[in-house]
Amino acid sequence: MEKTLRGVGVSHGVAIGQVRHMGTAVLEPPATQIPTEDAPREQARAQAAVEAVAADLIARGNLAGGEAQAVLEAQALMAQDPELMADVSRRIAVGSSAERGVYDAFAAYRALLASAGEYLAGRVADLDDVRNRIVARLLGVPMPGVPDSDEPYVLFARDLAPADTALLDPTLVLGFVTEEGGPTSHSAILARAMGVPAVVALPGAADVAEGTVVAVDGSSGDVLVEPSTEKQEELRRIAAERKAALAASSGPGATSDGHRMPLLANVGGPGDLPAALEAGAEGVGLFRTEFLFLDDSAKAPTEEKQVEAYRKVLEAFPEGRVVVRVLDAGADKPLDFLTPADEPNPALGVRGLRTLLEHPEVLRTQLRALATAAEGLPVHLEVMAPMVADRKDAKDFAEACREAGLSAKFGAMVEIPSAALRARSILQEVEFLSLGTNDLAQYAFAADRQVGALARLQDPWQPALLDLIAFAAEAAQAEGKSCGVCGEAASDPLLAVVLTGLGVTSLSMGAASIPYVRTALGKYTLAQCRRAAEAARAADSAEEARAAAQQVLSGE
Ligand code: PEP
Ligand code: MG
Repeated sequence: MEKTLRGVGVSHGVAIGQVRHMGTAVLEPPATQIPTEDAPREQARAQAAVEAVAADLIARGNLAGGEAQAVLEAQALMAQDPELMADVSRRIAVGSSAERGVYDAFAAYRALLASAGEYLAGRVADLDDVRNRIVARLLGVPMPGVPDSDEPYVLFARDLAPADTALLDPTLVLGFVTEEGGPTSHSAILARAMGVPAVVALPGAADVAEGTVVAVDGSSGDVLVEPSTEKQEELRRIAAERKAALAASSGPGATSDGHRMPLLANVGGPGDLPAALEAGAEGVGLFRTEFLFLDDSAKAPTEEKQVEAYRKVLEAFPEGRVVVRVLDAGADKPLDFLTPADEPNPALGVRGLRTLLEHPEVLRTQLRALATAAEGLPVHLEVMAPMVADRKDAKDFAEACREAGLSAKFGAMVEIPSAALRARSILQEVEFLSLGTNDLAQYAFAADRQVGALARLQDPWQPALLDLIAFAAEAAQAEGKSCGVCGEAASDPLLAVVLTGLGVTSLSMGAASIPYVRTALGKYTLAQCRRAAEAARAADSAEEARAAAQQVLSGE
């Protein structure tokens, strides 16, 4: 029966399709003893599951090709390791069920690998994945990770980690719904990058049965469960009309009286470029280079591999601006070889620039790769550091850039309230600022961006966040330098109008949002943007700020 669930809409559009759940971590199978006479049957079950998983990994490898194929084939070999299988059989012979035997045998093998040195320890994650697949098959629960499907689907998940999302096939995912995650979570960011509708912080998402047809409205945050055929048709018609109207928008970003506001794209790698170019992005305002590092979290990509990826992005905007953020590892983007495993509070730990200053060789390689990639290109390369807290951080980063011989502008992201408050002092060391409003909200409100229940506090309309943005923008203006926004705040068309009024100098967002923002900006003069910004800052809550801006703009 039709019913409506309500979450937070974070990526515009409507998706209609069947629900496929992201498989969650495999639970530990119970350690109950089985009767001896059941052992041969359990051993056969284990053998069949191992063979099926190995065959599946090989089939996926054939489809993926390249480096992924080599990794998947190595995993298939791991699954069929004769010693491991012999251990599974032995355990079953003395009373383990098939799933428990697999679980324990892999645990023993895992401990052996982990103690065997760095390279093998790096394979532990792959081994865990193989074990999870075999145990899931034996238990008859969905495979952990991204669903295996040949048909397009709406992905339901508790939350999505960047490492999961790297494996998603954009031609199959119609939209996302997550139970956790706020408007700045990586699920939201990825949905916007892929241009698919998404709703986050939806209570009860886990209870919607696999295969149920849903309609996801990424603007309102509504998820209709089992919508009628008429309703589906109506939603499709409205979405198509809207898309056609937006497709007609083109050209550089500007207010109706010609105040320029460059509209740039946030990209995670060369794969996001076609959408950015199609949307008419004027450059890249945030290249999240950590996605390059996620393929193998045990070591950094080689300098050559980095040069290749950077060059592709730089070549896409020959005369444009490309702002590259150096590696932002840690917290919600951990990398095995860099991120301490035992931090009590990773979001407040060694992450972003802090990690790079502790591992200068990683920063050096990245900066050198950028310098090589930019050689001979007319592009305006800008390089910025994530999580700059104060002037010393900014100075250390600028020095590292100079030492690497990089001819680019160096900048600092403003993601920590201290950096917004002391933006002028930071600007003594760097040439531009870029507001990372996702983390800035997280740290200003002490509200973890991955926790759906705190979505209210991560709302980028919060007046306190608008104040911090205004501080940074005013400081940059006073220093004659630029201050853009590259956090998700820039992708909300109405908020983009307010940000323009607050004095920011460019807006960078997932490509799919660019036409929406361009259309909204083109409706108002700079003076109207400023009045809307003033009204929003004078409000006491995010809802009031939104309503106040709306009222100012509609009343004029
Ligand atoms: C931000 O924090 O606003 C930002 C742009 O960085 P990320 O979302 O990658 O942390
Ligand atoms: Mg950030």
